[in-house]
Amino acid sequence: MPRPISLTISTSSLRHNLDVVIERLTQASVTRGIARPKVWAVVKANAYGHGVNVAVDALARADGLAMLDLDEAVRVREAGWKGPVMLLEGFFEPSDLDVVDEYRLMPVLHCQEQLDMLQAARLSQPIDAYVKLNTGMNRLGFMPQDYAGAWSRAQMLHDQKVLGRLGKMTHFSCADDDPDVTRAEQQLFQDITADLPGPVSLCNSAATLTDSVWSAMDPDLEQWVRPGICLYGGSPFASRSAASFGFKPVQTLSAQLIAVRELPAGVSIGYGREYTTPAVTRTGIVACGYADGYPRLTSPDTPVSVNGVPTRLLGRVSMDMLVVDITSIPQAGPGSTVVLWGEGGPEIDDVARCARTIGYELMCAVAPRVPRRYI
Ligand SMILES: *Cc1c(COP(=O)(O)O)cnc(C)c1O
Repeated sequence: MPRPISLTISTSSLRHNLDVVIERLTQASVTRGIARPKVWAVVKANAYGHGVNVAVDALARADGLAMLDLDEAVRVREAGWKGPVMLLEGFFEPSDLDVVDEYRLMPVLHCQEQLDMLQAARLSQPIDAYVKLNTGMNRLGFMPQDYAGAWSRAQMLHDQKVLGRLGKMTHFSCADDDPDVTRAEQQLFQDITADLPGPVSLCNSAATLTDSVWSAMDPDLEQWVRPGICLYGGSPFASRSAASFGFKPVQTLSAQLIAVRELPAGVSIGYGREYTTPAVTRTGIVACGYADGYPRLTSPDTPVSVNGVPTRLLGRVSMDMLVVDITSIPQAGPGSTVVLWGEGGPEIDDVARCARTIGYELMCAVAPRVPRRYI
């Protein structure tokens, strides 16, 4: 028998979460009398750890898929995805352009070297692309003063039938927590790109879910949003839960108790003897550790549920096991179900907060050794 741990992935919740995003965009567009923005569903990092194949299946309503690994892009084509595929980091070397050409991928162009590679390429047909502006993230994208030059080079490549339709994009640095910064970045984008035609793509999950971003948007633009985390049931915001928007958890990490133990007061638990029982304590040993992708650096009182009852971790997380408090869950015993996060347990973002990280990291980090169950 395999060790009792698994990652359950709900296709219907993934589909539901995309429906929630589309419904919000539809309402916003009706209110403002504009066309509904289109959706690039972001499926990078193997669909945030959920698997690109399940994403292709569940995200059929998306207008396009956005990712960055060329192999994953090929996999979504092989899984039958016919719509647009955006490469968020573009391509990396000239031979990548053969893959871009063969699988009809749509790269983001963010540096001169990519334009040089295109200049030298032989493609069977023009490829659509976004030209990215750096508005303050200072990661990828042309600087504001260089954007017009990059755009005219791209336009020349378009005239030479190397590039097809051109779009404009940027990525906000603080859409989750600083509306003033976002407004300034959005204004900079509008100032720099105002006279250039084509679709625009600005919004990650946080910006997509922020009304002030939409009220500042030029209604005449063809908009494409790029939500990622919310599709998987995580929140981009520190102070607002995914559930409050109607999103459902897509992944559930669950395991079982493999032993229970009655401890007297005054004994310690686990490596480093970090936790000492203040009173008689019943503990459960869970078949989940940091080698499964559970974060090692958790704080005291990290939430977990046993037999559907909320409780907490005790002591340090080990490689293959962790310990939970089942003093108030007398019916729990070996074989009882433990939900580390997801359906029937704590929200992934609450566990992440206790580990001083974000749900994104936990989602992507579940180890390959954990068996996946798709429902
Ligand atoms: C990851 C990413 C997104 C999606 O971000 P979420 O916060 O997961 O919604 C959008 N755009 C770019 C460029 C990204 O890298």
